[in-house]
Amino acid sequence: MIGGLKTQISPNLYASILKSCISRKSIGPGKQLHSIFILNGSIFHDVNLATKLVNLYSVCNSMPYARYLFDRMPKSNIFLWNVLIRGYAWHGPYEDAISLYNRLSDHKLVPDNFTFPFVLKACSALSAANVGRKIHARVRDTGWNTDVFVAAALIDMYAKCGCVADARQVFDEITERDVVLWNSMLAAYAQNRLPAECLRLCAEMAAAASPEFRPTEGTIVTAVSASADSMAVGRGRELHGYSWRLGFGCNDKVKTGLIDMYAKSGNLTAARFLFDRLTAKRLVAWNAMITGYAMHGHAHTALDLFNRMAGELRPDHITFIGVLSACNHGGLLEQGWNYFDSMVKDYGLEQSVEHYTCMVDLLGRFNRLNEAYDMIINMRATPDAGVWGALLNSCKIHKNVELGEAALERLVELEPGDAGNYIMLSNIYAQSGKWEGVTRLRRSMAARDVKKSVGCSWIEVRTEIHAFVSGDTTHLMSDEIYAELRSLGDLLARAGYVPNTSPVFYDVESDEKTAAVSSHSERLAIAFGLVATPPGTRLLVTKNLRVCEDCHTAIKLVSRIKGREIVVRDVNRYHHFKNGACSCSDFW
Ligand code: ZN
Ligand code: ZN
Repeated sequence: MIGGLKTQISPNLYASILKSCISRKSIGPGKQLHSIFILNGSIFHDVNLATKLVNLYSVCNSMPYARYLFDRMPKSNIFLWNVLIRGYAWHGPYEDAISLYNRLSDHKLVPDNFTFPFVLKACSALSAANVGRKIHARVRDTGWNTDVFVAAALIDMYAKCGCVADARQVFDEITERDVVLWNSMLAAYAQNRLPAECLRLCAEMAAAASPEFRPTEGTIVTAVSASADSMAVGRGRELHGYSWRLGFGCNDKVKTGLIDMYAKSGNLTAARFLFDRLTAKRLVAWNAMITGYAMHGHAHTALDLFNRMAGELRPDHITFIGVLSACNHGGLLEQGWNYFDSMVKDYGLEQSVEHYTCMVDLLGRFNRLNEAYDMIINMRATPDAGVWGALLNSCKIHKNVELGEAALERLVELEPGDAGNYIMLSNIYAQSGKWEGVTRLRRSMAARDVKKSVGCSWIEVRTEIHAFVSGDTTHLMSDEIYAELRSLGDLLARAGYVPNTSPVFYDVESDEKTAAVSSHSERLAIAFGLVATPPGTRLLVTKNLRVCEDCHTAIKLVSRIKGREIVVRDVNRYHHFKNGACSCSDFW
C-alpha cells in the first residue's frame, strides 16, 4: 500500500504512518517509506521525519540503520540523541550509549530527564558503577536530581552495580516519593538479597499509604519474593492478607509469588492450595511448585506434577532444574538420565551448567565419581564453580582424594578467594589420614591470603527477622541464647554427642577452635528460636554457607531432644530435621 504513495503526500501523513509503525514496532512499512524518501531525495529535508525514522529503527533493534541515518542528519537536537542512546541502552552495544552521552557536550547539547535514565540503564547493564557515579554528579549539576524517574534510574543503576547504600541515599534525598520510586528501592534491596531491609521498607511504605498513594501489585510481588528469600513466612503471610486488602488477592502474579514463598519455606500445602486455584497457570507457577516439591524431598510428587504440566505447557530450563533436583533428592539415577536426555531430544533445550550440576550430584550420590568427572570434562557448557563444587562435595563423602584434588584445582582457579574449597579438600585429606596434605593446604591458604567467609543465619520470629553471625553476642537476648546453648550442650552430651575436636578444620566458616563450632550462626539462630517460640513451633533458618558436619549432627539431635521440626536452608539445599534425622540422609 505504502509503495503506491505518491511524493505529493503531505509530510503529516508520513509522520503519522511512521508514528504508528513506532508504536507497533513494525519495521516493514518504515523501510518502504525510507526508500521513498531516498528516491525523491527528500530524506533529510524534514528533520522531524528523519528523526522518526531513526526512532523506528531504534525501537525495532536495527541499530546500524538508526546509526547510519543519525550520522548523516544535518541538524541535531537532544531528542534525536535520546532516541539513539535509548536504542543502545535497550539493545546494546551498551558502551555506545555511554560514548554518545559523553559526546553530547561537543555538540553543545544538555542531557535531560530522558537522557539520564537511558544512559544509566546502559551503565546498569555493564555494571559500570564508576561511570554511573559521574553521571550522577552531572544529574545534580543539571538539577534533574529531584525528578522521580531520574532518581528511580539512579537507584536501579546503583542496585544493579551492588551499591545499595548509594541507592538508598538517592531514595532518601527525594522528599516527594511516588510508587515508582518506592518500588525501585524495594527492588534494589530484593536484587541485592537484603530481604530484611526490603520488608522493613515495605512496612514503611504500607504505613505511608493513602487513597492517592498505595502499594501496587509490583510492590507486593517484590516484598513476597523477599520473604521467600529469607523464609520469613510470618511476614509473607501478613503480605498475603495485605494483598487481599489491597484488592490483589485474585491477582495471578501475586499468587504465583506467594506460591513460591510458601513452597520455599516448606509449606507445600498452602502453596498447592493457591496453585490449584490459579485462573491461568503460567510456567513460573508450575516451576515454583515443582521446584518446591523437589527441594523438600517430595521427588515423586514433583515428577507427577511435571508429567501433568508437560501435557499442557512446554517446560523450560528452570523446570528441568526442578525435575533433575527431584531425581537427585529422591536418588532416582535412571530417571535422572532419562529426563536429562529428554531435554534435548523432546524439547530442544540445551542443558546448561546447572543441569549438569544436578547430574554430577546424582552420580556422586551413587559413588560414580569417574562418570561424573568425565561428564564435566566433556560437557558443552563451560564448567563453573557450582559443578566442580558438586564433584568435590561427592569426593568428600566418598573419600576420593584423587578426584577431589582435581576438582579443587579447578575451583581454586575459578574462585581463588573462597576458603570453603580448601576446607572441603582438607576434610578429604583428613578423613583418609593424609595429614601432610592438610598442612600443605593450610600453607597455601595463608600464602594466598584466603579469607574465610563469615557465616550468617537468619530466623524469623513473630514476623521480625533476626540475623546472627558466628559467635555473635550482639543480640538483645544473647544471655538467654547462650544459656540455652549450654543447656543444649549438656543434653546433647547425654545423648552421646561428641563435638569434633580433631585438629582439622571441620567447618566452612571457622577453624579457630572447636569451641567455636557450638556458636556457629545456625546454632545461635536455633537456640534463639527455641527460647523465643512456644514448644513445638517449627523453626525455619536460612544460612549463607553450607551447614558443617558437626552442626548437622547436633541439629539432628536437637530436633529429637526438643521435639521440634527444624528446617535449615543452606547455600546448597534444604535440611529438614525431624526426630533425630535429616531429609538429606546426611548427603549434602
Ligand atoms: Zn557449623
Ligand atoms: Zn541434612
